[in-house]
Amino acid sequence: MHVAVDDTDSIDEMCTTYIISEIMSRKKYDIIGNPELVRLNPNISYKTRGNGALNINLGRGSGKKKITGMINNEYIYSYERLDEEPDEDDLMDFVYSIVNDYSVKTDIKTSPGIVISKDRFDENLYYKALEEDISIEFIENYLKDRAIYKKINTGHGIIGSVASLAWNRKKITYELLDYKYPNYGYIDKNTKMKIAEIPEKYNTTFNNIDRNNNYPAIFPKQKTPVIFGIRGINDVDLIKIYDEIKNSYNLNDRRCVIYETNQGTDDHIINDPEFLSDLGSYAITGIISSHPYVIRGGHRFINMEYKNINVKLSAFEPTKEFRKLIDSLLPGDIVRAYGSYIDGTLKLEKLMVSSVSRLFRKEPPICGSCHVKTRSKGNMDYRCPVCKKRYKNPNIYEVGRDVKPGYYEVPVIARRHLSMPVKLSNYFGEFNDMYKWDSGYR
Ligand code: ATP
Repeated sequence: MHVAVDDTDSIDEMCTTYIISEIMSRKKYDIIGNPELVRLNPNISYKTRGNGALNINLGRGSGKKKITGMINNEYIYSYERLDEEPDEDDLMDFVYSIVNDYSVKTDIKTSPGIVISKDRFDENLYYKALEEDISIEFIENYLKDRAIYKKINTGHGIIGSVASLAWNRKKITYELLDYKYPNYGYIDKNTKMKIAEIPEKYNTTFNNIDRNNNYPAIFPKQKTPVIFGIRGINDVDLIKIYDEIKNSYNLNDRRCVIYETNQGTDDHIINDPEFLSDLGSYAITGIISSHPYVIRGGHRFINMEYKNINVKLSAFEPTKEFRKLIDSLLPGDIVRAYGSYIDGTLKLEKLMVSSVSRLFRKEPPICGSCHVKTRSKGNMDYRCPVCKKRYKNPNIYEVGRDVKPGYYEVPVIARRHLSMPVKLSNYFGEFNDMYKWDSGYR
């Protein structure tokens, strides 16, 4: 039986993933497969942090087992197959009491939703939740005669819960989350940077550390029961990394859980749509139609023509060195831009420069007799300052461009959960077609 939970936390308290770990720690049911952490529309304004919703499959398991976490120094295993479904009402009572105990009560915006269903839901709902802002009514209508659910406060969390069970699991990555609760603890920045180097040694991991910006990305920015989270495409490597960290540092952690996720998959990206709508995330190919411009705060913009639509591409200050790429673009460059679209602006996550336009400059010609540079008198009239000879045509020469065709992405410090790091593009085979289209630059 699938149990999905969302919207239990606030910006500085709790984390819905911890509630999943609490459900696991009670050992009342077997766990089937890994629990899932599913990221939804990154542009939804009322998200607490990363718009993540959770689900876990519980019942009596059979078949092979694998490690899915560790609680109080004991491995937690999950089964390959479900053998027997539990009673859904008992399960709801069990989950409800945990959600009730652990969800945040001090923030009126926290509105938990629990959904329990034998079956997963239609993948169209997953995509809808990545692209749009869905109403509670729509979801309640969908759930009628399909699944049981419970709402606390407005119960807004049922939207994310349903969407998480609609995830089609076509592209899967993993995240190991390590927890310490209720005493959150403190780790200094230097130690965090050293710890973040450990997963970085494995090429199956991603988004661990940003050395340029001195940012240990595996550690959350806000206060949460999560000590660190390591992301990768191989869960066995994540366990090795966890052991190595535990053997090298005493973090006093209490438990860890390995989730299957849609992080780093670009599942939110719609390729080449006819129209762009607010809150959607897109990959669009077009021609740069303006010079870059800067506004106060160091935010960069440049315009692009896409199917007769003028799209403003943006790289805000938090994207750090990525802004240099925008500075180096010129009208005529052909690019494929990835990002989310809000108010006519595509907030860039990645950019593929497909071809760069050629840049020419003109200068007064050199006098053939005196070998000195002529002076421009305007109107294509150049005169030698020595012999006064007239020349009509300037010298035209090509200037080298300081941008090369290829993929560019925002640094780890500015990366969104769903955004596929270029590093993973071969693994998912995502950009294979574009490699061909890119005509042999790599
Ligand atoms: P955390 O990452 O710490 O779990 P969060 O960023 O996921 O927090 P929540 O507190 O879970 O934030 O709030 C997100 C809310 O947005 C939930 O109520 C969820 O149901 C809702 N939601 C998610 N996607 C959509 C969507 N596409 N349309 C409408 N509501 C959505």
